[in-house]
Amino acid sequence: MTYEEKLSIFKKTGALQEGHFLLSSGLHSKVYFQCALVLQFPEYAYIFCKEIAEYFSNFEFETVISPALGGIIVGQEVARILNKRSIFTERTEGEMNLRRGFSLKEGEKVLICEDVVTTAKSSKEVLSVIEKFGAKAIGLGAIVDRTSTDIDLDFPFYATMKISAETFQPNDCPLCKQNLPIIKPGSRK
Ligand code: ZN
Repeated sequence: MTYEEKLSIFKKTGALQEGHFLLSSGLHSKVYFQCALVLQFPEYAYIFCKEIAEYFSNFEFETVISPALGGIIVGQEVARILNKRSIFTERTEGEMNLRRGFSLKEGEKVLICEDVVTTAKSSKEVLSVIEKFGAKAIGLGAIVDRTSTDIDLDFPFYATMKISAETFQPNDCPLCKQNLPIIKPGSRK
């Protein structure tokens, strides 16, 4: 699938919106991306996850692990395509953990899956959970790469799309200077 075809799915589902947005970080942006709006359609979830699965199909691993909530659908779908086990981490009292009886064996090889990677903060939290069990991460797969700097992992990172993450400080935002009304995504008008 071409870049344009993927972009058209993101726009058609409302996942990718252009305008003037107030992000949860407090920064302003021309672009807002909500991956759940793509993943709500299983046929699209399949298309994007199949591409991640194909990239990692020659890697040796037993389990896919993803951070709740955003990563779960991606991890489950990639695991289904490659016939692997799929588990997820959850944040409790601020700390990422395996719950629900999930565990990893020592030396178990694991693929991390996410919906969107921006700073790789949650991926690195998942990595610390993997290492706590003595297991080993072999890669990170995501639908969208929104990184603006090198995320510094010692295993391959593959994303199906790169969406540049240009953001502005509220006091230095060109869209504010044009007096464009700002939208807070997820809130009702
Ligand atoms: Zn602004």
